[in-house]
Amino acid sequence: MGVTANSWGVKKMKTKWGSCSTDVKRIWLNLELAKKTPECLECKLVHELVHLRERRHNERFKAFIDTHQPD
Ligand SMILES: [Zn+2]
Repeated sequence: MGVTANSWGVKKMKTKWGSCSTDVKRIWLNLELAKKTPECLECKLVHELVHLRERRHNERFKAFIDTHQPD
């Protein structure tokens, strides 16, 4: 995808499937994703990685998602 997270981790999260701190390039994934399918986990990981290129959920963000995850 052309981006690299400086660090990432898994933790219990109450309201989100994941989060991305773009300033320090850190990604957190919700531990509950372990109960989901690999495709679901990949979807959330791609979502958070795309935030390293675009912070907001705008058209540019959606275009990156479509590029990296056409389905
Ligand atoms: Zn997001």
